[in-house]
Amino acid sequence: MLRQWNKIYKVTFFAKGEKHNEKKGVSRQKVIVRTSIIGIAANVLLAGFKAFVGLISNSISVILDAVNNLSDALSSVITIAGTKLANKKPDKKHPFGHGRIEYLTATLISIIVLYAGVSSLVESIKAIIHPSEPEYSVLSLVIIGIAVGVKIFLGIYVKKKGKAVNSDSLIASGTDAMMDAIISSATLVAALIFFFFKVALEAYLAAAISIYIIRSGFVILKDTLSQILGERADSDLTTKIKKKINSIDGVNGTYDLVLNNYGPEKTLGSVHVEIRSDMTVEEIDQLQKEIQYEIYSEFGVIITAVGIYCASDRDEVSREMKKFIYQTALSYPNVKEVHGFYYNASKKHIRFDVVIGFESADRKKELEDIVGKVKERYPDCEVLPVLDDDISD
Ligand SMILES: [Zn+2]
Repeated sequence: MLRQWNKIYKVTFFAKGEKHNEKKGVSRQKVIVRTSIIGIAANVLLAGFKAFVGLISNSISVILDAVNNLSDALSSVITIAGTKLANKKPDKKHPFGHGRIEYLTATLISIIVLYAGVSSLVESIKAIIHPSEPEYSVLSLVIIGIAVGVKIFLGIYVKKKGKAVNSDSLIASGTDAMMDAIISSATLVAALIFFFFKVALEAYLAAAISIYIIRSGFVILKDTLSQILGERADSDLTTKIKKKINSIDGVNGTYDLVLNNYGPEKTLGSVHVEIRSDMTVEEIDQLQKEIQYEIYSEFGVIITAVGIYCASDRDEVSREMKKFIYQTALSYPNVKEVHGFYYNASKKHIRFDVVIGFESADRKKELEDIVGKVKERYPDCEVLPVLDDDISD
């Protein structure tokens, strides 16, 4: 009885958890917006100082650096807009919310980084072909030095905040700021070399920097596009979820966990569990609710469906059959897992699921091979296997 009350209490609590998550979303948005505003202010200020220094000292690398700061400010504006749009409530057309907009804004930022890199490269090649003498004053060098310090500090700060709230856009702009610090320090070194030795290296340096910016733009683009395509769910998370479900009383095994991601903070999924064959519908109903509640409250993941496998090892025949099938299937190197075995003695049906890895050259053929061996051993039974995808760890 106590257990029943406990469950009802938990179900009402489930609704409260939803509000809790909403609050978490709002504070995440606040952190992203605040961090981005700090980034915009710092970058606009730096761009102004550098443009001034670049123009009075006739230095192409310093002017490029100023332009680069402006593009950073622009990416922060896009980050804010993206976060605001992503937090829009779900509607009829987008019932899973708008969280994936954040992947689009990260893509846009990577394109801006690429554009900045390519245009810098063009400018530096022009400067290599038609060199012009820069003239640095001590004040200019001091301003560039301070800019380097500010950028390093900003980069570390933005990246840290981005990791804390799981925002790809913030992490991307933090990484960008760190690279800018490297660029600015390189321009400072080139300026110092010119100041003391009268050797002009800055156009070559600017070219090398541009190639580096282009490369990092590609890396960000590749990562976000991969997320838009849909990646394998984080192994650490899926392992923890499976372990948690397995620890729930009544669950014999957890399989086929599918997680779909609708933005960095919204994950929906389904799972299959094996349970004892003597459970009543009422007990199964309660068990399924408990799984949904536990996974939502601990991981914020919404389990939309729980599929049920009935354990089948009551008699000696089933046990022996199960052992043979599992051993046979698992002797294939691409077979990751066998589960869901069930022997229906009156119909003489053998059912089981085989997870065959994507590295297999022909997954269907491999399954047919296994089925052939099972049929050979149990010729008067019908073998009804399911080929499962290797979706999560
Ligand atoms: Zn399965």
